[in-house]
Amino acid sequence: MVAAPPAPTAKPLVGVLALQGDFEAHRRVLEGLRARVREVRVPDDLDGLDGLVIPGGESTTMTLGIEREGLAEPLRRLAGVAGAGESDSAGPAGIPFLGSCAGLIMLDREHLSIMDMRAKRNAFGRQLRSFEADVAVKGLVGGPLRGIFIRAPWIAEHGPGVEILAEVDGHPVAARHDHITAVAFHTELGPDDRLHRLFLADVLASAGLAGADDVLEDRPGMGAAREDVARRDAPGGGIASAG
Ligand code: GLN
Repeated sequence: MVAAPPAPTAKPLVGVLALQGDFEAHRRVLEGLRARVREVRVPDDLDGLDGLVIPGGESTTMTLGIEREGLAEPLRRLAGVAGAGESDSAGPAGIPFLGSCAGLIMLDREHLSIMDMRAKRNAFGRQLRSFEADVAVKGLVGGPLRGIFIRAPWIAEHGPGVEILAEVDGHPVAARHDHITAVAFHTELGPDDRLHRLFLADVLASAGLAGADDVLEDRPGMGAAREDVARRDAPGGGIASAG
């Protein structure tokens, strides 16, 4: 990606996969943070994006939609994962992705294989379909996030490149692999937009746009997160290119 010259007024263009699920809630949060948002339904919608959100919903339905529209390989390429049959030579780094709930499932080895982990669906049991919990997320300042868990997955297993950012009852519910972040819960349904701010700071930094500090500093206490973002922005080894 060609980095645009830093311009304080430049707004990043963030795609939200809109085949099914709670994409409108993500759209509202991102637009509230002054990002431009494009709903993604077909491969052409991926052109020129600076970041991508895969929302919560139903992973089986989303999988069918991705197959129907031929989105799997374009999504993997956008994330920086080499396509099947291609050499694993390091390509250009992908753009930041954020997956929530079913989005976490879509990122795992058994779905888009963008993140080196395996999700367990409906992991908290069917009886306990929905609950809220305060989740302490590594790298997020200002206290725990209120996580809304709706038939949520957890991360059952992961490779060494995946950093676990939060756990509930000893089970990983948030993780990061370079520029890919996955959370098992929803924050887009509540008033706390800090997770989206961190994501947007990543998006701005990776697109070479100014404004990452502003997006973090709008909320009191967010300034301290800057160092963390700057550190994570250092060139990484590329995400897993599992086949
Ligand atoms: N249980 C759903 C699935 O397996 C995920 C639920 C959600 O996204 N809130 O796809």
